[in-house]
Amino acid sequence: MKKWKPIALFMAACILCLLSMTACAVEPSASAAPVAAFSDLDAGAWYAEDVTYCLENGLMDGSSSMAFSPNAPASRAELAAALYRKAGKPETEARGFSDIPDQSWYADAASWAAEQGIIGGYSDNRFGGEDPVTRQQLAAILWRSAGEPAPSEKGAFVDQARIAAYAADASSWAQEQGIINGKAGNQFDPHGTATRAQLAVMLYRWMSGSTEKDGIFGMDGTQTLVAYFSATNTTRSLAEYTADILSADLYEIVPEVPYTDADLAYYTNSRADREQNDPTARPAISGSVENMADYDVIFLGYPIWHGQAPRIIDTFLESYDLTGKTIVPFCTSHSSGIGSSDTNLHALAVGANWRAGHRFAGGTDRSTIEDWIGGLDLPKLETVVDAATSTTRKTAFNFESKSVTLNSGYEMPLNGLGTYSLYGDTCVNAVKSALGSGVRLIDTASAYGNEEEIGQAVREAMAELGLKRENIFIITKIYPGREMADPERSIQACLDRLDLDYVDMMLLHHPDQNDVKAYQAMEKFVEKGKIRSLGLSNWYVKELEEFLPQVSITPALVQNEIHPYYQENDVIPYIQNLGIVVQGWYPLGGRGHAAELLGDEVIAGIAKAHGVSSAQVILRWNLQKGVVVIPGSSNPDHIKENTELYGFALTDQEMARINALDRNEKHDWY
Ligand code: NAP
Repeated sequence: MKKWKPIALFMAACILCLLSMTACAVEPSASAAPVAAFSDLDAGAWYAEDVTYCLENGLMDGSSSMAFSPNAPASRAELAAALYRKAGKPETEARGFSDIPDQSWYADAASWAAEQGIIGGYSDNRFGGEDPVTRQQLAAILWRSAGEPAPSEKGAFVDQARIAAYAADASSWAQEQGIINGKAGNQFDPHGTATRAQLAVMLYRWMSGSTEKDGIFGMDGTQTLVAYFSATNTTRSLAEYTADILSADLYEIVPEVPYTDADLAYYTNSRADREQNDPTARPAISGSVENMADYDVIFLGYPIWHGQAPRIIDTFLESYDLTGKTIVPFCTSHSSGIGSSDTNLHALAVGANWRAGHRFAGGTDRSTIEDWIGGLDLPKLETVVDAATSTTRKTAFNFESKSVTLNSGYEMPLNGLGTYSLYGDTCVNAVKSALGSGVRLIDTASAYGNEEEIGQAVREAMAELGLKRENIFIITKIYPGREMADPERSIQACLDRLDLDYVDMMLLHHPDQNDVKAYQAMEKFVEKGKIRSLGLSNWYVKELEEFLPQVSITPALVQNEIHPYYQENDVIPYIQNLGIVVQGWYPLGGRGHAAELLGDEVIAGIAKAHGVSSAQVILRWNLQKGVVVIPGSSNPDHIKENTELYGFALTDQEMARINALDRNEKHDWY
């Protein structure tokens, strides 16, 4: 039954608090303390601001005097207490829940929440204060506290059928308000739980109306996905523990045609028998993970069927481009081990970094999963966590504007012209032809010996085509050895040769003993406005790890050799997770190798299917991997063709086929 009057009074109290947060009636708890008071809270973490808010306003307190336990599951009692404190701890009559002793710290909060009709308790007169609060309970409790507003759209989640009737409107409302986001594949995951840190963020969002931290609970914030298939619910609980422990997104692989008991009856020529005996069987999946590109680590859970992963796992793996992602398989089985079920999956995502799989018995508890995760050697996980919580995030390509916003704030086109080995009139004509075809990014270097020609071509094109300087993005580079030993002079020499007032980006061409000094000199030119963005070329993971702590301006770009025969699948995600854009040199394999790549059967076949050229397929493959392309050419037809990359898209299967061409075959020494 609705309790409109008390709720209205409660909401009025909340509004008053919002209008005057400092004079809020919330009484700080005795243990209210800043984040720094708790040894397990990280002041730079994604939850720090929200936890601080909850601590300062006495809504939450530590799990002990020293610890906040941000990753512990939030309980129903903690949620009730937070709302009760928010309301100013009003007088209340004891409700007499059978499982709450009178002296319990949350007895008043539970009674008050029940009185307000916000938290009803269970049918057996228990409150269940120690139970983790589920996502659907959270949605319903906050929704009721807000006066049960009608959502503008109802029931849009893929797992809507699993949401209890009492939480149906609440879940839609909570998502609309940005309080609890949907998970991967538009799932609400009603039975999933929230950690105490997540509860703090939700409370903050709910009370402040702030949805700034989009994604903490949903698709955007975390970069770890737990995907699982569970026909009989055995794998489900393990997947839920894993997602909860890692604060990861959870995605259930749901078959389009559900498996019945008869389908699962082994050795009866059942559906499962037939599928497992047929290597080409690919049972269809209902829904998909639309933001798969956001994830770096995927935990993949499945039951063992006839010693192998169910074929629907093959369907899942073949549905996405998983290149560069770390995949951690885990399986449930009452008897058999993981066997070859995990290694047999590797061929379905060849570009992924596969980790050894692990088998769990049905009924495995949470602490066993915690131990397993704690012992996993996941070097990328640290990067993922950093990337998820830092201000520099993976940079998104905008295929509408054909540009990407760099971490320096400047826009850079996604496709350009490389000018290595172009000299004299050939160079001038190539650059003018490119600018005439709509190319707005030109890559040169002091070592190419053509900066004067580039400058001349750009100035002429500006005059002839009416282009403005700010519409053209020029990259140049200074070289190791003498140039980096005397960087101020070398940088100024580039500016003089180009004679275009400023350069949009300057790179260090290769690592060198003076590279930090040279970069610091470039930083000074940024201050003077003569260079807009900085970058590196031929820098890999180890080099970046050593270099980055020594400089002030994070590079906006790293330019490395990348083509289908040399894919750098381990390096690209590492760089991108630092918020640095990756640009590929030798995108077509480089002069001397281009014919081989363009003639590759797989690439040519895909090109034919789309009615485009092999060069366009390779360039598009780069763009879809988040790699900016700078093909070199002096042929106006090729130059124009290389700009026409946005009218078609490669499917995940086509991406996967090109990914499978990797030979780790470098076409130049650096
Ligand atoms: P590339 O772009 O991989 O290949 C260029 C070759 O492909 C040329 O022979 C070109 O011939 C041909 N080509 C281009 N478009 C084509 C098309 N649509 N159809 C058929 N053939 C086509 O090699 P690159 O130019 O050497 O490398 C690209 C750029 O990367 C360089 O220009 C340079 O700016 C940069 N780079 C940087 C580094 C570094 O250390 N940072 C190193 C090497 C290169 P046509 O002229 O006949 O079109």
